[in-house]
Amino acid sequence: MLQYETVPVTPFQQNCSIVWCDETMQGAVIDPGGDLPVLEDACKQLGVTLEQIWITHAHIDHAGATADLAEKLNLPIIGPHPGDQFWIDGLPQAAANYRFPPSRPFTPTRWLHDGDTVTLGKHTLQVRHCPGHTPGHVVFYSPEIKRAFVGDVLFAGSIGRTDFPQGNHEDLINSITQRLWPMGDDTVFIPGHGPESTFGRERVSNPYVGGT
Ligand SMILES: [Zn+2]
Ligand SMILES: [Zn+2]
Repeated sequence: MLQYETVPVTPFQQNCSIVWCDETMQGAVIDPGGDLPVLEDACKQLGVTLEQIWITHAHIDHAGATADLAEKLNLPIIGPHPGDQFWIDGLPQAAANYRFPPSRPFTPTRWLHDGDTVTLGKHTLQVRHCPGHTPGHVVFYSPEIKRAFVGDVLFAGSIGRTDFPQGNHEDLINSITQRLWPMGDDTVFIPGHGPESTFGRERVSNPYVGGT
């Protein structure tokens, strides 16, 4: 079975998720934005051996500690989509602007594109490209456990900001309605910030995309 635990990191309380196969205890960390000692301690407590880093998008609170973690544990960096190259390049400046610890750019071991898959032990997750909040944003979807890790595309009761450079409101709405909704009303999503919800609940009650 695929398991996950979400650990809020950085002053922005970003929902970093540790995902693992409970037969092999091989794990991946999604969006290590910061607080590496907290993340490493959580993995130790869980008995998870981190083998990969998966990135939804390259905002500082999601990707700020990627280079440090990859270097320290010699992990491959999977994602985001190439559309986020300029956000990766901008990590040092973003760290300064938001008064985060220093951050370095990184080179993904593998860029992700719509329709790709990522694999953890015997488990495969689907990758969907969901631009709008950032142009290179991707989400990770496990049909097996009906969970989607959606970063800053969709939140319980809200949607991602689109007022950043290369943000696009129409793209974001299309990403949500055409790429997230088909994952099913009963799929639980883990947003980049705040509590989990289901796509079905948001389709009904989210003021930005309800009724779509
Ligand atoms: Zn973001
Ligand atoms: Zn965020």
